[in-house]
Amino acid sequence: MPKKDLQPLQIQRMLPRTNCKQCGLATCYAFAFDLISRSKKPEDCPLLLTPEFSESFRVLKELLGEGERIRGTDHVLDKTKCTGCGDCVTVCNRALTTITKGGRLSQRAPVPPPLKIIDGNLSVVEWKSCKRATPGLDLCNLCAEKCPFSALDLVKAEEEDDAA
Ligand code: SF4
Ligand code: SF4
Ligand code: SF4
Repeated sequence: MPKKDLQPLQIQRMLPRTNCKQCGLATCYAFAFDLISRSKKPEDCPLLLTPEFSESFRVLKELLGEGERIRGTDHVLDKTKCTGCGDCVTVCNRALTTITKGGRLSQRAPVPPPLKIIDGNLSVVEWKSCKRATPGLDLCNLCAEKCPFSALDLVKAEEEDDAA
């Protein structure tokens, strides 16, 4: 299943559901949102590390992968999979510099590219240029869809806010 399709209720069902707050959150449901947004990891719930929940822990690790949120962005990158190929950068730059007018492509005023390859990994260097930073355009998913190695995932910031 693509990671972007993970649902909070689906994740919550695998949690201990005691609402014990040891993870720093008020409820297990809030923790489920933070797992999906990669603000928390399964190991941040002490109960998941006990033998009783070892199977849930294993499945959660498999579902969520090793991706980590790039601070201040919607981008979740698995550095163990990112090869620095730059396909995401190329597709993003093309999308940001061209618009369709009556079926024809036209040039859009250039903005500083949001993505860049640094030291062999993807970095987000201009978050404000990313469409997802602008309300109404925040459904763009092109860079993640283009990644040939499933190294990149995009998670809406609202998913964290909803859990607050
Ligand atoms: S520590 Fe685990 S069981 Fe306790 S509230 Fe957080 S997610 Fe739920
Ligand atoms: S989400 Fe869209 S605009 Fe933002 S970095 Fe990816 S391709 Fe570019
Ligand atoms: S995130 Fe994917 S497409 Fe982008 S540089 Fe890494 S491997 Fe290539």
